[in-house]
Amino acid sequence: MRILLVEDDTALGEGIRTALKPEGYTVDWVQDGSSALHALTHESFELAILDLGLPRMDGLQVLKHLRAAANPVPVLVLTARDSTSDRIAGLDAGADDYLIKPFDVDELKARLRALLRRSFNRAQPALEYRGISIDPISQAVNFQGQVVNLPRKEFLLLHELLAQPGRVLTRDKLQQALYGWDEELESNALEVHVHHLRKKFFADLIRTVRGVGYLVDKV
Ligand code: CA
Repeated sequence: MRILLVEDDTALGEGIRTALKPEGYTVDWVQDGSSALHALTHESFELAILDLGLPRMDGLQVLKHLRAAANPVPVLVLTARDSTSDRIAGLDAGADDYLIKPFDVDELKARLRALLRRSFNRAQPALEYRGISIDPISQAVNFQGQVVNLPRKEFLLLHELLAQPGRVLTRDKLQQALYGWDEELESNALEVHVHHLRKKFFADLIRTVRGVGYLVDKV
């Protein structure tokens, strides 16, 4: 679950990122509006947390550009306490929810879960594939009726692949989905995760496309 955090307040940004990591989110963080728009336009995120008062392009402009380009990424806006007009403008510009600063981090987590649930229910509820079922929100995995506990990276990889059967996912895209920008990455990390998934489910679950990436076949 990859989230883009857009917040120019360093202490707050650091705090949010630290709070979300143990929840199983991959959090990438930018501190100005134009970097945010660039990241959201060129990479894929499941959700964005967007501050409104930002250098280089304010949050409202970012949101307007996104929606004008039909980018459906769910956006949670962060606003200052007294700016009712900002909140309304944010919702009008296509924000999915907002939170007023200062906020409790548990409330932020609850709002994120609700937003993700809504967006996943819209896009795809639970995934079913050859006896494997995945609930993307609770991160529960079942295989032939048995619960399978997967480490977070394996879960993310399996989810990425099963969400798009028949489509080759490049190594770059998968690495971004699993690790974000600033996590150290061993060069064979993906291979190791793929190996584990094949062992836990079945050997021909994931096909290697040499030099490109991986896919699961359409059934
Ligand atoms: Ca700000």
